[in-house]
Amino acid sequence: MMQPVKILGGGIAGLTAAINLKQAGIDVEVHERKEFCGKTTCDFQLMENWIFEEDALAALKQFNITGNFYVKPWYSLEFISPSLKRCLKKSSEPLMYFLKRGPMEGAIDRALQKQVIDAHIPIMFKSTLTIDDATIVAIGKHKPNFMMTGISFPFDHPDSVIVLYDDRLSHKMYTYITVADKIGQLVVINPIERTDHELRLDWSIKRFEEIFNVKISTIAHRFAAPLSLNFLKSARIDGRYYVGEAGGFQDGLSGFGLMYAFRSGYHAAQSIIQNDDYDLRWQSAMLKPIEVSHINRYLFEKLSNEGYEKLVNMLGSQNPAIVKLLGGDDLKSIVKKIYHHSPSYLLHPILFWRKLSPLYTFLLSLPGRLLSR
Ligand SMILES: Cc1cc2nc3c(=O)[nH]c(=O)nc-3n(C[C@H](O)[C@H](O)[C@H](O)COP(=O)(O)OP(=O)(O)OC[C@H]3O[C@@H](n4cnc5c(N)ncnc54)[C@H](O)[C@@H]3O)c2cc1C
Repeated sequence: MMQPVKILGGGIAGLTAAINLKQAGIDVEVHERKEFCGKTTCDFQLMENWIFEEDALAALKQFNITGNFYVKPWYSLEFISPSLKRCLKKSSEPLMYFLKRGPMEGAIDRALQKQVIDAHIPIMFKSTLTIDDATIVAIGKHKPNFMMTGISFPFDHPDSVIVLYDDRLSHKMYTYITVADKIGQLVVINPIERTDHELRLDWSIKRFEEIFNVKISTIAHRFAAPLSLNFLKSARIDGRYYVGEAGGFQDGLSGFGLMYAFRSGYHAAQSIIQNDDYDLRWQSAMLKPIEVSHINRYLFEKLSNEGYEKLVNMLGSQNPAIVKLLGGDDLKSIVKKIYHHSPSYLLHPILFWRKLSPLYTFLLSLPGRLLSR
């Protein structure tokens, strides 16, 4: 008898793979280390709706995700510069969708778990299975290079999504705040090697209190979570299928990973069903936006506060030439253009040169090393 496909990790990517395999008549079992599937935090996350051509909710239907879960479309994004210049950009179509994460009612994690149980797929909770014995690795972890620190708090404020660029708070990334259903979440992201994550979170809280002219007096939850913005070319390692964050599937510029988790889980299942090459399959579906995001990250990392100031000014500009350059005034068209018709894609060789940069650094240091002998 054929062994069931063993999926290690019951998050979004693992459960999407399980649902699709079972639907094709393939025996599958999910091994989850906790007593429930998915995230432990009870909060909101945003599923972006611009990286891929089709609408994110239509894509979930295509991936056979049928459960009932909370979803709220969101149409705008406010950008704030280091000098606190504000620019609200709107979109005529949903720019993102708020989803609930965690074990609570309405959360996507809980809806997926229910769909899996209803499909009679066994979930081994508190499993101690190791990667060696897994077919699909979906453990939501990969070598991290950034750290997210944040708080969630009750906040009596209309729903909002705000991004604050300021090197003094977030180096090479950004600080963001989301408000949904009176729950605020503030997150600051910094390179993992920094030693002042907590301090930068405190500074970010102060900055947001200043911007909103409020005092965050009750903090429901304070958290820290590693983030991997590393780029993997292959997600088929030692015969295993890596999906979601474990496979490095995440937007390299902003860190959005939800859509990639659904997509990679679906493609790994299809690859097993069709018995084809998983790497070829996901690369044809997802490699270009991943590469564009990493090139844009390279360019973004060159900006400092002066650059962020210019970026926010440019986004808010009404100058027809700049509006044309950006691809219109609608934010979804602007970000879509960045991913689908990005001139930065011409800088594609950067990805290759970046891999060689340690070798360059070593070669350039050779004359100095030899002279100092
Ligand atoms: C604070 C924070 C905010 C974020 N906000 C957003 C956002 O707004 N939008 C967005 O698109 N992305 C966001 N992300 C990223 C997003 O959460 C991930 O990309 C996505 O959840 C990845 O899904 P996954 O299935 O790969 O992993 P996960 O959803 O993390 O699931 C992994 C599962 O594997 C289980 N597991 C782990 N180790 C083992 C083991 N050894 N054995 C068995 N089971 C194991 C875990 O318990 C969990 O159930 C955020 C991430 C963080 C940390």
